Amino acid sequence: MPLNLPAGKRLAVNIGVDFDAQCAFSGHMEKLSPAILSRGDFDVNVGTPRLLRLFAKYEIPTTWCTPGHTLITFPDSIRAVTDGGHEIAAHGAYHESVPSLGEAEERRLMDLQLSQHEQVVGRRPRGYRSPAWDFSDWTLGILEEHGFDWDSSLMGRDFEPYRPRQVTVHREQPNEFGPPSSVLELPVAWFMDDFPALDHVPGVLAGMMSTDDTFARWRDNFDYAYENHPGGVLTHTVHGLVSGRAHAIMLLERFIRHMKERDDVWFATLSDICDCWSD
Ligand SMILES: [Zn+2]
Repeated sequence: MPLNLPAGKRLAVNIGVDFDAQCAFSGHMEKLSPAILSRGDFDVNVGTPRLLRLFAKYEIPTTWCTPGHTLITFPDSIRAVTDGGHEIAAHGAYHESVPSLGEAEERRLMDLQLSQHEQVVGRRPRGYRSPAWDFSDWTLGILEEHGFDWDSSLMGRDFEPYRPRQVTVHREQPNEFGPPSSVLELPVAWFMDDFPALDHVPGVLAGMMSTDDTFARWRDNFDYAYENHPGGVLTHTVHGLVSGRAHAIMLLERFIRHMKERDDVWFATLSDICDCWSD
């Protein structure tokens, strides 16, 4: 279903910054080594200022999906983000691996991150992006109970928001679907994330694709969405510790310039895009 975009606009684009800083690997690594922590340092001291300058240059409002750990460890960076007119959304407590949490622990970490948002940002976030880009069986229910307006972690569409449903899996009978959620899904895709393409984690992620190949993939997704999904949304995900690097920020600027060639593209926060939806 198309969004009710502002007059004259054909496609909504959100650039989402997953501001993971020093907890980027906390959900997957027992011990964070000095080199891993230094990459979080890079995020805060180099990547984030570069991204903020780029977004200011092109006057693009963005959504920063931020773990509670980043909020309380680097509050000055959060102030720079909000002063730049950007939105802060929830992104876990310490970048926990959501699907492997027990229900009580997931509820505790949700309460913790919401209190950290109140403390540092001064308000509760309207949206959530799972740090794992995945849910447990009860995540959707927890988001509904806490009154979240939107989520941006699932992949059931590419260029259209939708109402996700709980699925009960049966191997030899049809799956069963719950009712449409009160939470609006603004879907993501690993293909439109800088991390798998460009990052490198020794022994874990090869990454390091060419920026030309990565640009071609991003451009094709944008061009297809623009042509075929009027009233749609393209979500694009970056990380300061990846896209803050010289070659990667040049790639991101090239992609922004490509999208800006069309003046009926609307760059907006995920909450502003969510507000364009009606069932
Ligand atoms: Zn993240």
